[in-house]
Amino acid sequence: MTGSQASVDRSIAPKAPPFISKGGAVLLDRDGVITQQTQFVNAPDDLQLIDGAARAIARLNRAGWPVAIITNQGGIAMGYLTEAMLHTIHAHLKELLAEGGARLDAIFYCAHHEHAKLPEYKSDCCCRKPQIGMLEQAREALNIDLSKSVVVGDRTTDIQAGIAAGCATILVETGSAGEDGKISAIPDATVADLPAAVDLILSVPDSDA
Ligand SMILES: [Mg+2]
Ligand SMILES: [Zn+2]
Repeated sequence: MTGSQASVDRSIAPKAPPFISKGGAVLLDRDGVITQQTQFVNAPDDLQLIDGAARAIARLNRAGWPVAIITNQGGIAMGYLTEAMLHTIHAHLKELLAEGGARLDAIFYCAHHEHAKLPEYKSDCCCRKPQIGMLEQAREALNIDLSKSVVVGDRTTDIQAGIAAGCATILVETGSAGEDGKISAIPDATVADLPAAVDLILSVPDSDA
C-alpha cells in the first residue's frame, strides 16, 4: 500500500504511546511496584507480591522485553540487612515470580547511603536513584538502548533517574504512588499498577510477534 501514507489500522489498534519503542528493556523498581511496601523487607518472609505482578512480568517475558529490577537498598548501609540476606530475599522473589511464570533478566541494587551506619557503605554514590548508575549498569549488562527503555516506579526518585537516563517513565499508583515528595519529576504516564503499566508497554505496535 505504498500509495497511501495513512496508517490504516491506527484507528483499530490499541492506543500506542509514542514515548515507548522496542529495543530497550523494562526496568522496574522493586518495593511498591512488584512487592508490597507495607514494611521494610529485611527477610524473605517480608516479601509479598502486588496483585498481578508476576503475570504482568510474564507477559513482558513472552513479548521479548528484557526485564530487570533497579532497587535502592540503603537498608544494607544502615545495617538492617546484609548483602547476603538481600541475595536470599531475591532468590525467594524469583521463586514467587516463577510461580506466576515470570523471570527476571537481572537485578541491580545500590547498597550505599550517604548517612550509612556501616562505613564501608557510606557513599554519596552514583548508583542510588535518582542517580543513573544502576541504569548504566543495566545498559552494559543487558546490551540495551536506554533511550528505548522504560522505567516503572512508584517514587519521584525512580522517575527522575529514568528521565536523566533518557528512558520513558511510568509512575504506578501502588506503593508511594509518587507522593514521596522527594523531588519534582513528571512521568510520561501514570497508571494504577504494574499490570496496567505492562498493558501500556505492550500496546506498542509489533511488541507481540
Ligand atoms: Mg519503590
Ligand atoms: Zn550505590
